Amino acid sequence: MLSRRAFLATSAAAVIPRRAWSTRGQPSSGSVGVDAWRLRARLERLSLFGRPDGGSFGSGVSRVAYSDADLAARTWLLSEIAAAGLTPRIDPAGNVFARWAPSGTSPDRPAILFGSHIDSVPNGGNFDGDLGTLSALEVVESCRATGITPRHPWELVVWAHEESTAFGRGTAASRIVAGDLQAGDLDQAWNGLKRADAIRRLGGQPDRIEEAVRKAGHWRAYVELHIEQGGTLEKGGVTIGTVDGIVAIHRYDVMVTGFANHAGTTPMNERRDALLAASRLVVSVREAVTARPGRHVGTVGRLEITPNSPNVIPGKVSMSVELRDLSETVLKALAADIQQRAAAIAADTGTDITFQLASRNPPALAHEAVQRAIDRAAERSGLGATHLPSGAGHDAQMIAALCPMGMIFVPSIGGISHSPLERTTWEDCAHGASVLAATILQLDASDTIV
Ligand SMILES: [Zn+2]
Repeated sequence: MLSRRAFLATSAAAVIPRRAWSTRGQPSSGSVGVDAWRLRARLERLSLFGRPDGGSFGSGVSRVAYSDADLAARTWLLSEIAAAGLTPRIDPAGNVFARWAPSGTSPDRPAILFGSHIDSVPNGGNFDGDLGTLSALEVVESCRATGITPRHPWELVVWAHEESTAFGRGTAASRIVAGDLQAGDLDQAWNGLKRADAIRRLGGQPDRIEEAVRKAGHWRAYVELHIEQGGTLEKGGVTIGTVDGIVAIHRYDVMVTGFANHAGTTPMNERRDALLAASRLVVSVREAVTARPGRHVGTVGRLEITPNSPNVIPGKVSMSVELRDLSETVLKALAADIQQRAAAIAADTGTDITFQLASRNPPALAHEAVQRAIDRAAERSGLGATHLPSGAGHDAQMIAALCPMGMIFVPSIGGISHSPLERTTWEDCAHGASVLAATILQLDASDTIV
């Protein structure tokens, strides 16, 4: 590990000088000095919780929500928040909130919320969620050290359950806050653990779960700093990504029906091979998606062949087609194109191909005013920014239903995430925290977000 001194020397560019602040304690340029060293030290400390035995920082982390590692990490984080002079509170869903409203702050104004999550996928990395969470704490500490008095209360959040490993559900705890809770949800079992008991492990109160729900307008805005988890920023040599929104996902169940017959006695020209048709459909999904300019993506990730035997011509294939884009109009047009191609394949192969919409997740658009605040924050920090959609889900998409939402991305090296190889440079971590601080300050300074 680098010494503190050596680290500061290598990351000087990330530590924006505190002289950017005027003597009255208000920002003169929108640049914010964050302590890059403290942020790095905390990221390294957090990486110990869920680290494989005998491993190092580079071995990644397995900190699935509700696991012992998750509990231990939360206990440590609660003590860090308390040591920073804030009073953490656990809501009935298990989310951690900590409010900063020093004297001079108007307590009746809606709070500006920012944070992320610290649960991980099994064999995950040390930046997904961790960076946004620890940067939120860093922002409060840096701004307080600079003598800032915010006009609105600021509220830090650690969402309890973001990854979809536990209970097969993603963004599960922010979803509750947004009011999306179905009867029976808390009775669901996973690995012998009832969801209500899992929430209890975190200090939540499943019997009072409705009290975790917040109304629209409860917060003034929500901002989440996160690693990109893709390679767009790194490839473009850009430090800051202003997220336009979190993409819509349309998922189709596709059934290809042919005729199962003897693989030795059926001549090639008499076959109705469902797998041949399905294979051609896989290729045409790619062709349809790439034929249209834009950032949309399409994937066939599941194929189930019946009877799946070497000596039988496949009679049936059940498969998925998943399409993602910010615009649902684009997704509908894509689906229509793919279905047209499928009809031609079916006619050519003597099969029948049917599509059924299995699930439809609408997009969550980032609020334009929050996007503008992020753009300005990056500009004033002397950093390049570009706009991009998020192809991955985040808690921010749930909170977008309650208040103006925005997300800041920083580069993922090699576009790798959900892997021990997940990396973001320490400099970019500090840049992200700095832009988060400047964004929150801008949102705090304006009276309305339009
Ligand atoms: Zn995440």
